[in-house]
Amino acid sequence: MTADVLIVGAGPAGLALAAALGEIGLRVEGIAPADPAASWTNTYGIWEDELPTSTLAAMLQQRWTDCVAYTGDDEMRLARVYGLLDNSRLQGHLLERCARGGVRWRRQAAHAIAHTASYSTVTLVDGSEVCARVVVDASGHAPIFVQRPAHGAVAYQAAYGVVGRFVRPPVRAGRMVLMDYRADFLTATERQQEPPTFLYAMDLGEGRYFVEETSLAHAPAVPFNMLRGRLHRRLAHWGCPVRTIEHEEFCLFPMNMPVPYLDQPVLGYGGAASMVHPASGYQVGAALRYAPIVAHALAAALQTPNATPGHIAHVGWGALWPQARLHNHRLYLFGLQTLLSFDTARLQRFFATFFRLPRAQWAGYLSNTLSTPEVMQTMLTLFLHAPGDVRSGLMTAALRHPAMFARAVTGLA
Ligand SMILES: Cc1cc2nc3c(=O)[nH]c(=O)nc-3n(C[C@H](O)[C@H](O)[C@H](O)COP(=O)(O)OP(=O)(O)OC[C@H]3O[C@@H](n4cnc5c(N)ncnc54)[C@H](O)[C@@H]3O)c2cc1C
Repeated sequence: MTADVLIVGAGPAGLALAAALGEIGLRVEGIAPADPAASWTNTYGIWEDELPTSTLAAMLQQRWTDCVAYTGDDEMRLARVYGLLDNSRLQGHLLERCARGGVRWRRQAAHAIAHTASYSTVTLVDGSEVCARVVVDASGHAPIFVQRPAHGAVAYQAAYGVVGRFVRPPVRAGRMVLMDYRADFLTATERQQEPPTFLYAMDLGEGRYFVEETSLAHAPAVPFNMLRGRLHRRLAHWGCPVRTIEHEEFCLFPMNMPVPYLDQPVLGYGGAASMVHPASGYQVGAALRYAPIVAHALAAALQTPNATPGHIAHVGWGALWPQARLHNHRLYLFGLQTLLSFDTARLQRFFATFFRLPRAQWAGYLSNTLSTPEVMQTMLTLFLHAPGDVRSGLMTAALRHPAMFARAVTGLA
């Protein structure tokens, strides 16, 4: 029997969508090269208010009400609760919902795809085939099937982090530091000529801390050895070098991928659908929020008996990337392009202005919950309140990237 939907990939995005589809009674199959219950090793942070239900809000292993950012010497309090996801609890919860919805998983990698007027066939690496009325590619940032338009240089978020114990606490007790752009441990030349990085850090309790030197976005990616070197120099400069390392994290993913073609006969989800927020790199919250929306859209499209895979996927793409979200994405991409040209000092002043905006504006911008006029208003307010060098940087970016600026303003492709 042909499945309604075949999900390729069992990361946070694939599992969230499979769970939502199974829950509404669709016949769902999933494929992933490893056991879908194999541990996710990434450390997933999220603002608590981005978790769409109280059940999902209970998936945090830890939460912080004392959240700050340092932009230069200013300590800015962020009146918003941040948390770390309990990966095994979230994964277990999604897999349980999948099981209740009858989702069946095969341990195989997808290799090729073909379409007829009534179904799609995915060939697995062992040569076997799985058919479904529509295929969702949730295979991550380098998708196996989803096609994207050609694009310029890819800017990557890169980070090197350590969970461990330290000679002295690197973070105040009970605190989460979203970004610490203080760079007094670097030489003046390094601050001016090398890519800016910041510290993301949190107190995990019982003498353990997570500290991560992070490049928000840079093309090419900032190498891990530079991030590692900077993390240790920063900690040594503050008098709190690492005593014991429990876990090392290497983080690398693209930040500025274009939205995929919306008329292709395969739907994408998660990293494969360019759902990473270009301002922050966050994506898991969006994958959890959009899963029921996309699932209901697919269920509606599947009710048409003769719907082609292309038609069903098109309805899914429309639910995932409605016009307003596309326009916001173009605004965010322009915002990111601007930041790519800023050195440490200018970035410090940029974020000092950003986090002084009303909370509804900076929080909504980071979570992509603002309407397009609200995103524009936020950008304009920031521009009007920013110091001269930041403003001139923003204007220079508009002049250097006129096509991108025009797309951001008009929302047109
Ligand atoms: C170290 C690190 C930390 C991060 N921290 C955060 C964070 O705090 N918050 C946040 O929102 N984001 C974070 N991210 C971004 C992260 O990339 C994504 O948010 C998330 O992992 C992407 O989810 P995904 O399900 O789309 O893809 P993935 O998690 O990459 O999952 C892809 C799935 O597809 C499977 N797959 C791949 N190829 C095939 C194939 N050919 N056939 C079948 N299956 C296949 C894989 O095995 C996997 O199961 C972090 C990333 C890294 C690397």
